[in-house]
Amino acid sequence: MRQRAKITIKGAVQGVGFRPFVYRLATEFGIKGWIINSSQGVFIDAEAEEQYLTSFVQKLKTDKPKNAFIQSFEHAYFDCNGYNDFEIRKRDDEGSKTAFVVPDISTCDDCLNEIFDPGNRRYLYPFTNCTNCGPRFSIICDLPYDRANTTMAEFEMCEDCKAEYTNPLDRRFHAEPTACPVCGPKVALWNEKGTTIYQKHEAIKKAAEFIKSGKIAALKGIGGFQLLADARNDEIIKELRKRKRRSEKPFAVMFPSIEDVKNECELSMLEESLLSSIESPIVLLKRRKRIKSSVSPETAIGNPYLGVMLPYSPLHHILMRELGIPIIATSGNISEEPICIDEYEALKKLKGIADYYLVHNRKILRHVDDSIARIAGSRKMIIR
Ligand SMILES: [Zn+2]
Ligand SMILES: [Zn+2]
Repeated sequence: MRQRAKITIKGAVQGVGFRPFVYRLATEFGIKGWIINSSQGVFIDAEAEEQYLTSFVQKLKTDKPKNAFIQSFEHAYFDCNGYNDFEIRKRDDEGSKTAFVVPDISTCDDCLNEIFDPGNRRYLYPFTNCTNCGPRFSIICDLPYDRANTTMAEFEMCEDCKAEYTNPLDRRFHAEPTACPVCGPKVALWNEKGTTIYQKHEAIKKAAEFIKSGKIAALKGIGGFQLLADARNDEIIKELRKRKRRSEKPFAVMFPSIEDVKNECELSMLEESLLSSIESPIVLLKRRKRIKSSVSPETAIGNPYLGVMLPYSPLHHILMRELGIPIIATSGNISEEPICIDEYEALKKLKGIADYYLVHNRKILRHVDDSIARIAGSRKMIIR
């Protein structure tokens, strides 16, 4: 007996690889029909032999992508329509907008492996992402979550990217910000006048060299500009405080790896998992008592805790690999002013603060602050 079910799933189901997951599941169980991202969530019309349809509905809940969160799941049965295939339909602009947009997700291990594999076409490409990771909230102009509704809309995919984006078996199937060095955004290093002095990987490499030689660099990150400086260098940190007009507040430090964090701070299992979670917050960690610390005491004056983070975007990963040292990573603004999200605005507002600007041409639509968290007892506490 064939049956047909209409399924409405609400929650954080866009931007987490939900449609590709449903497509693969539908193929597996021989389901015919379609799926659409609507402004309220995800809508599925599915038809198959009864036992397959039942398994399909069950697995939608139990096998969902790891970053998805289902708030409500409704399904109802109808007469069959005689669908011949299963398709991902174009978006539906009707209705009120109640879908959740997931936050930006830190780079996944698969993407990291590609970025550091010299044989991969995305080798050292700072905008690598897939359905499991990448920018979401900071680049979405409107719901539903589709490329046309993101700041990636202006980058037309090359043939290779298109092939990945349209292949249900690929990790980038419907990964909206899919990009590569051929078709995607590019980085550049500007001097303080806004003149491009280096491009592509050379820009990142030179930015690392300048930071190591005691300069302050402004970085256009995922959710806004950050100011970066060598965290070992007392003088430049004092200088950064002066230029940013930030007299005593501690600065957060980005470490190249978890091992570097362990050398500097005490790290419990819970803290370690928080530090490397998909939200990749700044985590407050207790500093080890050491005779010689690699992080300057000027970073968090007289404070037994240090705000610590790990690289979370490909651009940060590549930069930190070039640097190999802990750096101050603080918001790109003068105290109390809003954080810059546009490079031309940054050039004006960070004048006199940044010596160099590591920028790119993917627009940031919404500012996202690095969140700050700590473990208290056995619980996660979000401070910002
Ligand atoms: Zn990924
Ligand atoms: Zn491409």
